[in-house]
Amino acid sequence: MTTHRLLLSLATLLTLSLFAPPSHAADKLNALIIDGQNNHDWKACTPILKSILQDSGRFTVTVSTAPSQSPQKTPDAWANYNPKFADYDVLIFNYNGDLWPQTLRTNFTNYVRNGGGLVIVHAADNSFPDWPEFNEMIAVGGWGGRNQQSGPMIRYRNGKIVFDSSPGDGGTHGAQHPFLLESREPNHPVMKGLPQAFRHAPDELYAKLRGPCKNVTVLATAFSDPKTGGTNENEPILLAIDFGKGRVFHTVIGHGPEAMSSLAFQITLQRGSEFAATAKVTLPAPNPADLPADKPVLRNFK
Ligand code: ZN
Repeated sequence: MTTHRLLLSLATLLTLSLFAPPSHAADKLNALIIDGQNNHDWKACTPILKSILQDSGRFTVTVSTAPSQSPQKTPDAWANYNPKFADYDVLIFNYNGDLWPQTLRTNFTNYVRNGGGLVIVHAADNSFPDWPEFNEMIAVGGWGGRNQQSGPMIRYRNGKIVFDSSPGDGGTHGAQHPFLLESREPNHPVMKGLPQAFRHAPDELYAKLRGPCKNVTVLATAFSDPKTGGTNENEPILLAIDFGKGRVFHTVIGHGPEAMSSLAFQITLQRGSEFAATAKVTLPAPNPADLPADKPVLRNFK
């Protein structure tokens, strides 16, 4: 090689390294929000979820909208609905509706089992009462005919998490009200650095959720006060579940735009989504004063 060509090669190398994309862009995680059916206002909530995740600076967010009618009514639409789950680090589940066709269920289960991340938001845990693997992924769910045969309830009593197998339907909530989230795993990556207790904006406090409860870690609970129609129990609010090589973050809060305007919802969603994607949380914890116990802090996204 002549000196001239050597210099050209060096110049090319230097140019390539100068124009390489900044490392933080390469570090962004790809999230896919899945919606399309829900007894909640998913059309209003999906853009808010997207904004919350993007605001963290950690995620690039894509939306995948499933067909609005059942596979029996619109089989062709469902045959064509086949998101490439493996292209994403984490799936954000904002869907509560018809049972998916078998192929889609298998692809979804394999994605999580093989190490994919999954985040379950509020009524997404009402989905698929008769899909065993999905119920394992979410640990507990509500409604849809769930009862003691679905599995136990999870409660926090006398300083520890207990599984309660007493009979009854799965899934209830009292009136919407602001409530206190209490951390039960302060050293878990999702909770590390967050205050021991912080108040969430008015929302439904899900209770009596039931399910297989396998490989589940309860990150936070809230007291379901009989004064607001609650159960008089500390109910699970934030959960982490291992499913195969994959991780699931399940947040039972986030009924609608008002609940999603709560910093408590936003911070835990961002951190839980990063954890589901990578098993770590690099997002900085907020100043504890920004997540107080006495009143909810609101931050609006559109
Ligand atoms: Zn709701």
